[in-house]
Parts: sequence; structure tokens; C-alpha cells
Amino acid sequence: MKIPQFGQTKEDVLNTMRTLRDHDADWKSGKTWSLVYYAGEDILDLLQKAYTLFFSENGLNPMAFPSLQKFESEVIAMTAELLGGGSETVGNMTSGGTDSILMAVKTARDRARAEHPEISAPEMIIPSSAHAAFDKAAQYFDVKAVRIPLDSDFRADVSAMGAAITPDTILMVGSAPAYPQGVVDPIKELAALAQAHNIAFHVDSCLGGFLLPFVRKLGYPVPDFDLSVPGVTSLSVDIHKYGYAAKGASVILYHDKDFRKYQYTITTDWSGGIYASPTSAGTRPGGAIAAAWAIMNHLGEEGYLNLAAKIMQTTQNLIQGIRAIPDLQVLGEPTMSVLSFASETLDLYAVADVMNERGWHLDRQQYPTSLHLMVTPAHTDVTTMFLHDLEEATAIVRSGAASPAQGTAAMYGMLAQMTESGMAKAFIQELMDQLTHVQ
Ligand SMILES: *Cc1c(COP(=O)(O)O)cnc(C)c1O
Repeated sequence: MKIPQFGQTKEDVLNTMRTLRDHDADWKSGKTWSLVYYAGEDILDLLQKAYTLFFSENGLNPMAFPSLQKFESEVIAMTAELLGGGSETVGNMTSGGTDSILMAVKTARDRARAEHPEISAPEMIIPSSAHAAFDKAAQYFDVKAVRIPLDSDFRADVSAMGAAITPDTILMVGSAPAYPQGVVDPIKELAALAQAHNIAFHVDSCLGGFLLPFVRKLGYPVPDFDLSVPGVTSLSVDIHKYGYAAKGASVILYHDKDFRKYQYTITTDWSGGIYASPTSAGTRPGGAIAAAWAIMNHLGEEGYLNLAAKIMQTTQNLIQGIRAIPDLQVLGEPTMSVLSFASETLDLYAVADVMNERGWHLDRQQYPTSLHLMVTPAHTDVTTMFLHDLEEATAIVRSGAASPAQGTAAMYGMLAQMTESGMAKAFIQELMDQLTHVQ
């Protein structure tokens, strides 16, 4: 395939794109339970307008765009305040949670290199539920990731993590909450442990940072998890999740600038001039920064509280409904609006496939086999329909009437049999190759 010799009209191009979109996940109707955090047309409209206003601007050089510099500083300051930051707290915007986590690991590694040159093979201790982005960071920055099994409530196991500390440990991690079961780790205990050993401690609050503070204000129990907890040295939080910003907006916060300085890269001897960038990105979309500022100012605390109340009510209804369906168990005690459920008797991947036939998209998880729900305001009106379909789907699978494993049930079944992880990886690699292959 090559670039077409002659261009098509704008209208033709856009029409083609609109048609292709018809086959995409239907997130506005609330049938998708991951990937998109939709809070209504009004908010979408503001995000699109704010993004478009700064569509061409580049966050690479804040001195060229004082408007962007103001937006970014204020977004960071408001986020730090929301998450227990003090007068010394500093941070940067990044392109997303993965980016923020990469920065936290890179910073901890370079701090250890500077302050503990005797460490030649750095390690980080992370709960088994910590996001896969930590494995990516481990690969990129050559820090060994030591994953520790959870306790029976799906929380990080404090004593097991303590027992894993070695002289090479440079970083420990807790999640608030972790993605798989939506449970907040015992951050206070973990951070105290890290502090006692002079080890950096990162809180991954990518998912919950813009929801937990409001959930707590509404009166739901939320354990301490933020920068106000002694020993926490960095925290990641995504505005493009429950902050409802346009995609490409996350914040990485540090306890102080003495710590953060290890994140920077500064080149002073390049023929292109002095080049300094605080994070991994060079060119940065002004739109993502502008839209984050716009949504925080538009919603305000009141707006976030209202959305949080709606989400929490919906989540409670879902949890009750799922618990009432025979053979299904909600895993752990989800702290906010992310949860998963398992079954000791039913093939849940087959249940998910039946749900797919009815237009519902649920993420499949493993260890244990479970299905995952990330609740947004878009789900409030579909809860009854969802629970009804889920009950029917479990009944169909229980009766053996489901068509034999085809879709993902078959794929996960096959992967489970590839006991050698090398084989599973090769299979996934082939799949990823296919994704960028033009038919
Ligand atoms: C989403 C998420 C991440 C990664 O964020 P991206 O924006 O997808 O890169 C990291 N940690 C947790 C807990 C998450 O939910």
C-alpha cells in the first residue's frame, strides 16, 4: 500500500472514517466496561473545544506558549493539592499512566545510581497486582521487578514485601487502587517499611487519584494512600481516567524537587542548542494540557463529587446484583468503582463470550480467572439491563447451551495450555504483528 497519488476531498475522507467507526466499541451506550471514561455529551463538547483551541500548540517549549505553561502548572498544583501534596511537592504532566510510571522508575533508578553507586543490579518490589507498566519500566530501565503475591483480600502483602527487601532494592510500589480487583493496597504500612529502609516508595494512583478523594468526602471508607502518608516519594495519577480529561493527560508527582531532578534530561552540548525535557516526551500536544485544565475548572470539586456519587451508587448496585447471581463471587472489597468477579464453577470466559454476543465488552483477567468492570457515569442507566444479561449468560453457560469455546474462551484456553511462557509470548507476538499488517 502506498500514499494515494491524488488526494480525496475532505468530505470523502471524513465519511470513510465515520463509516469505519460504526464497527468500533460502543462506549457511549455504556456497553463497554473499560478504555473510555465518558461523562456525558456536555463534558465531551468542552473537551473537544478546549483541545481544538490548542490543537497546534506544542508543550515542548513552555516559554513559547505561556498559556500552556500556566495550564500545566495549575493542573499540577491542583492535582498535588487534591492528593495530599505539601509545599515541597513538585510534578509534571505526562502522556499517560504508563509514561508517569516509567518516569517514577527511571527517577528512582537514577537517584540510586547517584546516591548508592554500590548497587549494580537494582530491584523494585511490586505487588503481583501492580500494573504491567512496571514490567515495561523494568525492561526499559534494567531494574529487576520482583512481584510479590497478594494477601487473601487481594491487597499487597506487607510482611512478604518486607521479606523481599535486599541491599539492591531501590523502589517499592503500592497501588491505589490496583487495576485487577480495584482494591487499595496498605499504603501507610508499605511506605513506612520503605522509609525505614531508606527506599523510594511509589503510589500508583493512576486509576483512583481523581476519584478516591471525592469518594472519601462522600463518606465511603478510603484508607490513607496519598502524598500526605510519610514515606511516599512519588505518586502517579491519570487525569484522562476519572479526571475525565482528553486522552494524553497524566501527572507524576514527587515529594520534593531534590528527588525529581533525577527525572530530567538536559543536553547542553548538542549542535541543535541546549535541549532540556523534564519527561520522556519531546513534542507534546498542547490540546491534552488545555483540555485537562478546562475539565478541572469546569467540573470543580462539586462536579467531581456529583459524578463520584453517581458512580459509587451504580457500583454498589452492580456489586449487590452480581453477588445475587448464583456461582459468581466479587473478588475482595473494591474500594471505589473498579471490581472483578470470579466463579468456582462456571467458565467465565464463555460467560464473557455470551455477553459479547449481546454487545457487552468485559475485560478478561487471569490468576484468578475473572471478568473486570470499570464503572463510569455512562453505566448508571444500563445496570439493570447488564445484570439481567449477566444472569442469563451464566444460566446459558451453566446449562451447557453455550456454543463451544470459540472467541476469547478458546484463546485463553489455548494460552493456558502453553505452560511454557515462551510459547505464549511467541503467540502474542504473532498477534501483535498481525495488528499492524495491512490485509
Ligand atoms: C491505567 C493504569 C495505568 C496505565 O495508564 P495508561 O494511561 O493506560 O498508560 C497504570 N496503573 C493503573 C492502576 C492503571 O489503572
